[in-house]
Amino acid sequence: IWLREYLKLNGLLTLSVFAVLAGCLLGFMLRGSHLSTQAKIYFSFPGELLMRVLKMLILPLITSSLMSGLSSMESKACCRVGVLTVTYYLWTTFIAVVVGILLVIIIKPGVGTEMDMTKNEKPEYKTDLVRILKVPRVTVQPNFVYIMPDDSGPTGRAVFLELTPPPEIHYKTRAGSSQQMNVLGIVIFSATMGLLLGKIGERGAPLVHLCQCINECVMKIINTAVWYFPFGIIFLIAGKMLDMQDPSTLGKKLGWYTITVLAGLFVHGLILLPFFYLILTRKNPFTFIRGLLQALVIALATSSSSATLPITMKCLLENCNVDRQIARFVLPVGATINMDGTALYEAVAAIFIAQVNDYELDFSQLVTISITATAASIGAAGIPQAGLVTMVIVLTSVGLPPDDITLIVSIDWVLDRFRTMINVLGDALAVGIIGHLCQKDFPRRPTGKNSHNMQN
Ligand code: ASP
Repeated sequence: IWLREYLKLNGLLTLSVFAVLAGCLLGFMLRGSHLSTQAKIYFSFPGELLMRVLKMLILPLITSSLMSGLSSMESKACCRVGVLTVTYYLWTTFIAVVVGILLVIIIKPGVGTEMDMTKNEKPEYKTDLVRILKVPRVTVQPNFVYIMPDDSGPTGRAVFLELTPPPEIHYKTRAGSSQQMNVLGIVIFSATMGLLLGKIGERGAPLVHLCQCINECVMKIINTAVWYFPFGIIFLIAGKMLDMQDPSTLGKKLGWYTITVLAGLFVHGLILLPFFYLILTRKNPFTFIRGLLQALVIALATSSSSATLPITMKCLLENCNVDRQIARFVLPVGATINMDGTALYEAVAAIFIAQVNDYELDFSQLVTISITATAASIGAAGIPQAGLVTMVIVLTSVGLPPDDITLIVSIDWVLDRFRTMINVLGDALAVGIIGHLCQKDFPRRPTGKNSHNMQN
């Protein structure tokens, strides 16, 4: 009976955790089997479908949340929530950077005479940064015609993927023509629309109502789709592991670098952020975090805080008893600009690269790193390994060779998963904290399973 009760409450979470473990196991078992490219494409298909479903929901979720959330806020309350949100996000990101800097200076992962750091990818990297870092798979998926990266690929699969189109925006980068979801642009546009809808009063009501309906439908899609996720997670993780470099070849310096980043993420995510939550709300942060576990597992599996956004919203509204209106504003903004894990990692990585190059950084350069790492994390998109690209800003700001990013590429896909978890955790805790601080501005509208349909 106890087990049945437990599974009823935590069944999906338990399945997702098992899926992560099963994915790791399957990936390891198949690593020696030398699957053909074609077989790998088929093998990764369920995982890719999971990513597409999540990405498909981002655009309707962000636009409808922000427009309906902001339209019903008083201008004064809007201002207060806006200022608090941005200040809180900047502050916690900066703290994350400081934690990273302190740890990397204490642990010194890059100091030593070991010769295992090869930079053989340099020339290629110089010509096409985005491609060599294999940044987002989204860069090779046009919106309506699916083209396989290197080979023609199975067409049935392409048709399936097109059923779940992620909203992507085409634009030119320095590395050539590219495309990626411009989430920041979407957030700014939707927030402006939301504010204006609030101002024009009655005439805007139909659109506000439409947004509320879209929002509710998106949440219903999520509630159904989550049952597919454990299956997708297995193949998402196993597919990634097929291409993984053998960990035993990474060398000591990279090993210490990994430990430094993970230690920093642990200190920031599980000690400092919960401490801020405790101080500011006087509530138990771990009860709050417990409600977010499903989102954290999805962040680990997808390495994308944008893709995790729909699940984070679901967890917050259903398990964490937060204010719906605050969540609709604070969460999408956070998923776009607040990336504590990425900022911490960028600072650690830049100083690690300096240590490997025997390059002494003085105090003013450390200050420069802390500012640019904060800025680079704000500029990073919530997609896999975006932080690796924006790190160029940090490296060049203190005169380090941007090509040296290749030193840390091999381990980045693992670190990316953990920093994405902290990014998601930071956004979600902010909803709890800002909701508490702005209680007076809003009549209490608790959420939760029972109140779900009544709260718009
Ligand atoms: N993958 C991270 C995220 O989606 C961004 C990064 O650090 O690369 O939050």
